[in-house]
Amino acid sequence: MFIVHVDIDAFYASVAVRDDPSLRGKPVAIAGSHRRAVVLTASYEARPFGVRSAIPLYRALELCPHLIVVRPEMAKYKEISREVFAIFGARGHAVEGLSLDEAFIDVGGVTLDEAAAFAQTIRADVRAQVGLTISAGVASGKMIAKVASDNCKPDGLLAIAPGEEAAFLAPLPVGRLWGIGPKTAARLNEHGIGTIGQVAELDDARVRQLFGSWGIEVRDLARGIDRRTVEPERETKSISTEETFEYDVRDERVLISLLRDFAKELGEKLERENCTASTVGIKIKRADVRIFGRQTHLSEPTRDPRRIYRAALHCLQRAHLNGTPIRLLGLRVASLTQGDAKQLGLFG
Ligand SMILES: [Mg+2]
Repeated sequence: MFIVHVDIDAFYASVAVRDDPSLRGKPVAIAGSHRRAVVLTASYEARPFGVRSAIPLYRALELCPHLIVVRPEMAKYKEISREVFAIFGARGHAVEGLSLDEAFIDVGGVTLDEAAAFAQTIRADVRAQVGLTISAGVASGKMIAKVASDNCKPDGLLAIAPGEEAAFLAPLPVGRLWGIGPKTAARLNEHGIGTIGQVAELDDARVRQLFGSWGIEVRDLARGIDRRTVEPERETKSISTEETFEYDVRDERVLISLLRDFAKELGEKLERENCTASTVGIKIKRADVRIFGRQTHLSEPTRDPRRIYRAALHCLQRAHLNGTPIRLLGLRVASLTQGDAKQLGLFG
């Protein structure tokens, strides 16, 4: 059984370059216009300057004064996302979306060559039909497929043969393992553990001592054993938006700033659809790809971005992140009602 991980290269920045060829070959960052805007995506030309996702825009401009800043166009990205996901699912395989431009595809019981050929077809179709480059990793498990696609970016394909997983992972820094953030990686380095291969060799007592109750799981991952399956998403009656970071985010101020943007976006969408919502929830994907959420019910339905934002902040506080590395943040409104809500006191 093989899993393919597919991921558009520098998605938002690539869209900007696709639609304005004068940007080609130049350092480009996608970022909002408000005071505390952060870089959402940087083109590969901007990255050598240290410009990357989730850093504040003012810092990016210090690092690269000739950086070209382009505003995000969420509606366009969502439209492109629908196109690429239609390509991902065109052969009927199970698709688990991780963000607008990134997914796992379960290609089932085929040979490695067939799985790689499928990944190559997807890459060619996305390039031909959407005009963007995509990288793909093929492996027996999710994490390895993802590490493989990250390692062959941009515009690459990397297939890891069964039995080769541990050897592929072994030389990589320990921080590439799901669930190992920079803090844990630094602590492991102090114990003389710098590579994934070194984790794979630890005995039971040592992994428990270093990682606690999930030590065995971490060592299994380091050995290339990953039994997590591809889980297609279910349809829900809600409106949501989310952002995946290319780098793990620990700074709560970045998350708060994004929630403000999300609340505005969802408020506008509710306005357009003439709906109000009485449930607000956040979705958080940790760096180890564990997903969890917090939600709250409002005393009365609303479409006011400020009230959605305040409810979202309440959810964020209840998530007790305390610097946990975050890979994705989402905001969702549900329990939708058609028509106007009473907005008592709002304009009083
Ligand atoms: Mg991507």
